[in-house]
Amino acid sequence: MKCELCSAELGADLRCPACGANYVPVCLGCGRVLPKEARRCPDCGGEALPGLEMTRAELRKAGLKCFMPFTQDRNYDIYFGGHNDGEGYLFNDIKGYTREIPESRVVLPSVAEGLPIHGVWNAFFCAGDDFLPELAEATFERMTAIREVVLSNGIREVMSYAFLGCAGLENLELPRSVRIMKHDFYDLFTDGQQPMGNGLWKSPVTVRYRGTEEDWQKVAVTSRFWDYVQRGYIKMEYLGR
Ligand SMILES: [Zn+2]
Ligand SMILES: [Zn+2]
Repeated sequence: MKCELCSAELGADLRCPACGANYVPVCLGCGRVLPKEARRCPDCGGEALPGLEMTRAELRKAGLKCFMPFTQDRNYDIYFGGHNDGEGYLFNDIKGYTREIPESRVVLPSVAEGLPIHGVWNAFFCAGDDFLPELAEATFERMTAIREVVLSNGIREVMSYAFLGCAGLENLELPRSVRIMKHDFYDLFTDGQQPMGNGLWKSPVTVRYRGTEEDWQKVAVTSRFWDYVQRGYIKMEYLGR
């Protein structure tokens, strides 16, 4: 497999020889982080593929905040999120996507210091204050820089408003581990209107899925998602297994 950050071929030790990124096998079936040599998950039999792992310091450097929500179902999984403090325990001490000058290609890792990252939540890239009338235009300018978002192998949930504010998004690459795709880009297209009042039309978003069309049929998506595929706002590209 190629490094999701720099496209160099990964070594047998799952390290990238070019950029030094570290990968660990994660189960595409249940999301578990597996030992280095694992090819299959001992729990569910699922296929193991390398997922990008980051340390706290690497997450901070990349401007990525993840957190453990404290919810009624006592779910302690780690998520990317940016809506205030997520009402949970901060895994990292900074908010949401925090880079002042966003990269054109943002890769979200699936493992944080050995723990699986479950999904991308509400308002990860932009949160409340970003849309205050006096800040909205600057937010739009800043976020237009992000053209591509890549989710590493192992991420399972892409929730509503995950890419809120990503007005320049053209490509979204999703791993086969995704089970729920609630984000349907409604916030970017608002039924075909201009995205954020600057008069520009949003270009289509190509969802590049690392699986087959048959695999995608098993992912829970909204009816609006398919409506947007029909209208041409979303283009599906199946990369195959
Ligand atoms: Zn690399
Ligand atoms: Zn498994």
